[in-house]
Amino acid sequence: MDERVLHILWMNGGLSCDGESVALTAATQPSIEDLVLGALPGLPPIELHWPYLGFENGPDGSPDSFLEWFHRAARGDLEPFLLIVEGSVPDEGNKAEGYWSGFGNDPRTGQPITASEWIDRLAPRATGVVAVGTCAAYGGVHAMAGNPTGAAGVPDHLGWEWKSKDGLPIVCVPGCPTHPDNLAETILYLLHQISGQAPMIPLDESLRPRWLFEATVHSGCDRASYYDSGEFATDFGASSCLVKMGCWGQVVRCNVAKRGWVNGVGGCPNVGGICIGCTMPGFPDKFMPFMEDPVAGTPPVTTSDFAPVVRTLRGFTLRVAGRAPVT
Ligand code: SF4
Ligand code: SF4
Repeated sequence: MDERVLHILWMNGGLSCDGESVALTAATQPSIEDLVLGALPGLPPIELHWPYLGFENGPDGSPDSFLEWFHRAARGDLEPFLLIVEGSVPDEGNKAEGYWSGFGNDPRTGQPITASEWIDRLAPRATGVVAVGTCAAYGGVHAMAGNPTGAAGVPDHLGWEWKSKDGLPIVCVPGCPTHPDNLAETILYLLHQISGQAPMIPLDESLRPRWLFEATVHSGCDRASYYDSGEFATDFGASSCLVKMGCWGQVVRCNVAKRGWVNGVGGCPNVGGICIGCTMPGFPDKFMPFMEDPVAGTPPVTTSDFAPVVRTLRGFTLRVAGRAPVT
C-alpha cells in the first residue's frame, strides 16, 4: 500500500451554494471525522484542505495561507493530491471584462484566479478529479437556459474522455445537493483505489459511481406498492404514490429513496417530496415545470388496467395470510 500522505484539495470556487460542503458534514457512512482522523483501518493518511475545515486563515503569501496548498499543487510541489471541485465552471471568455467566479488572488497580479483557471492549473497534476454536486458535474442550476454565465460541469470543461495523469476518469457525484454518504463513500472508494487496494472505480455513462446510481428512485421508493395498485396522491399530505404530483422517480437514477438521507432516515418521496431529477445531467431544464404530472412518469396504461386486479388480489392475500391457521 502507498503510505504517502494524500492531499485532498477541495475547491468551492465555482458557482454553487456550498451545498456539497454542507452535505459532507452530515455523512455517517463514513463520517468526515472518520476519514480525516484515520479511524478506518487500511486507508492512507490524508490531509483535507477544505474551506469548512481549514485552520489556516492567514493572508495570501503568509505561512498560514489556506490557498498556499493550491499554489503548491499548481507548481508541482504537492504530490499526490485529489482535486475535488464544487460548483459549476462559468465561461470566463464570454464577456468584455470582469469575472464570474474566483478563488483567491494571483500573488503576481493581485487579480482573482478564476475557477476555470484553477481547474486548468491543477487538473494536469492531480491524481484524480472529482466533481461533487450537479453544478460541478453537469452545470446544474447555473446552466439553465438564459443564464448569462455559460456555466458547465467539469466534464464539459475538461472533456468527457479526460483522464488524470494516473489514468482516472473524472468522477461525478451529482445531486442538488449530493447525498452525504454517496459523497463520503465515493471518496472512501477513491482512497482505496489510489492506495492500490481497489480496482478502477466503475462509472456509468454520466461518470457517476455505478453502484450508487444504477437503480431508479422508484425501485427503492417506500410508495412503490401504491403505484402498482394505482393509488395516486392528489395532495402532499397523502401517503400514496406522488407521480401525479410531479414525481419523476421512475426515470431518475438516484439511491436516495433506498438509502435515506441522514443516517438512513428520509429520502425525497419517502417523506412526501416529489423527485425532481436532481442527479441527472439534464437537471433542471429537462425536468421542469416541477409539480406537474411528468409525461415520462405517467403510469402506463397497463398499470391502470391491472391496478384493480392487483388491489383485489393483495386484499385477498392480506385477509387470508392474516388469519391464524386453524388447528
Ligand atoms: Fe415512484 Fe415517485 Fe410514486 Fe415513489 S412517489 S412510487 S418514486 S412515482
Ligand atoms: Fe434528487 Fe430525486 Fe434523488 Fe431527491 S430522489 S435527491 S430529487 S434525484
